[in-house]
Amino acid sequence: MAIASLATLTVSPIPSLSDEINQIRLDTAKIVSEHIIPNEEKLNTPIDSAERQSLIFELQTYVKESNLWAPHLPVEYGGMGIGFLGHAYMNEILAWSPYSNSIFGVQAPTSGNQSVLIKYGSEYQKKTFLEPTIRGEQSSCFSMTEPDNPGSDPRSLQTTAVKDGDEWVINGRKWFTSNAVRASWALVMCRTEEDDGEGGVNEKMTQIIVPTDTPGFIIERSVPVWGHTGGSHCEITYKDCRVPLKNQLGREGSGHAAAQDRLGAGRVYHCMNCVGQMERAFDLMVKRAAERKVHGGMLEDKQFTQGAVADSYMDIQASRLMTIHCAEIIDSGADARTEISAIKIFVPNAMHRVVDRAIQIHGALGVSGDTPLAGMYLSARTLRIADGPDEVHKILIAKNVFKRHHDGMSWDFGTL
Ligand SMILES: Cc1cc2nc3c(=O)[nH]c(=O)nc-3n(C[C@H](O)[C@H](O)[C@H](O)COP(=O)(O)OP(=O)(O)OC[C@H]3O[C@@H](n4cnc5c(N)ncnc54)[C@H](O)[C@@H]3O)c2cc1C
Repeated sequence: MAIASLATLTVSPIPSLSDEINQIRLDTAKIVSEHIIPNEEKLNTPIDSAERQSLIFELQTYVKESNLWAPHLPVEYGGMGIGFLGHAYMNEILAWSPYSNSIFGVQAPTSGNQSVLIKYGSEYQKKTFLEPTIRGEQSSCFSMTEPDNPGSDPRSLQTTAVKDGDEWVINGRKWFTSNAVRASWALVMCRTEEDDGEGGVNEKMTQIIVPTDTPGFIIERSVPVWGHTGGSHCEITYKDCRVPLKNQLGREGSGHAAAQDRLGAGRVYHCMNCVGQMERAFDLMVKRAAERKVHGGMLEDKQFTQGAVADSYMDIQASRLMTIHCAEIIDSGADARTEISAIKIFVPNAMHRVVDRAIQIHGALGVSGDTPLAGMYLSARTLRIADGPDEVHKILIAKNVFKRHHDGMSWDFGTL
């Protein structure tokens, strides 16, 4: 059955944005609403289907011709060079379709790896690992979380890398390494110093690039997620896995800092992505309520429905403004750790509520695969764990607030 008829995407220029970013948002919305959303049924087919691949290639070519390829990359690396805020605002629109990211060349986890390599990579690493991913010849994964240690406390990770001559020898077990089945290389978080070693508490880890055809890189299984088997979240054993020392990313002990770099900006992108998905769920909810007749009246005239619409409006607007506020603080160069944690908690929870209401209003159609709502629901729930669970971020917010109090200051909510 066809994906249910979908809503329109209305985008107006935002006065506080430059003409360039406003035009990018309008051009992006045109492609998403006219070329991607109407093709979602064809795109929702097996990844290796010839028809799907040729459609993706055609759409990618169109995106490149429209100068909208790779919003996260600087111009010298073949991207749009629109900076952090421009990318965040574009993400709100890309998120209307789950297929936009690959079509616009900004697909996690490779996009995050690319940004980290641009900042920390050597010339050799850029040539060998970064550039082929930009040309679309290679893809990659990020391998940090371990089954036997809490991912919410990255200092506890136990996968080791030990120097032997001019090589690193890696041993350990990771899981939930997304995209590992398709990746040509993995960025692996390794312990390079014991807890009682000389370096500071955040200097025990180093990220190392491991080509996936290295002997000792063993994919044990694809971990089933939400009942879906055969996906790309893999459990991996690293068994005496040897790579040259020159595959070390940045200086020894910088693994933690590089991960924080990746996750800070990444959380804003994820949240703008959630906002865009919420906007689409909201639009679908409104459309369905305006078209569906129940018990002798339109759904839109029932007060339960009106409550769901009003609550969702507030959830979306609050999420959007919080995320933009956080992005502006990051962009100004100020410390945004509290705001990043706040959006990381609030926005996926708000998305969970909004999509839940949209599903309820759609009835059985809402849980079917005929709308994007079921996928959005699972993704919202997952985001409350991935990239750091809610509890860890709440602890961080409270710590920062109390520290400020003990320094004799109230919290300044208007700060930029
Ligand atoms: C779909 C998906 C994709 C992922 N992709 C990747 C990937 O590509 N690469 C990668 O490296 N990782 C990936 N992850 C892993 C993710 O980053 C971790 O799951 C996350 O960091 C949490 O770690 P954990 O699962 O080990 O949970 P744990 O650290 O064991 O925490 C379990 C629970 O304990 C609670 N908790 C934790 N700390 C506290 C506290 N201080 N106080 C109170 N309660 C607490 C929280 O409720 C938490 O959910 C992915 C995860 C998912 C679900």
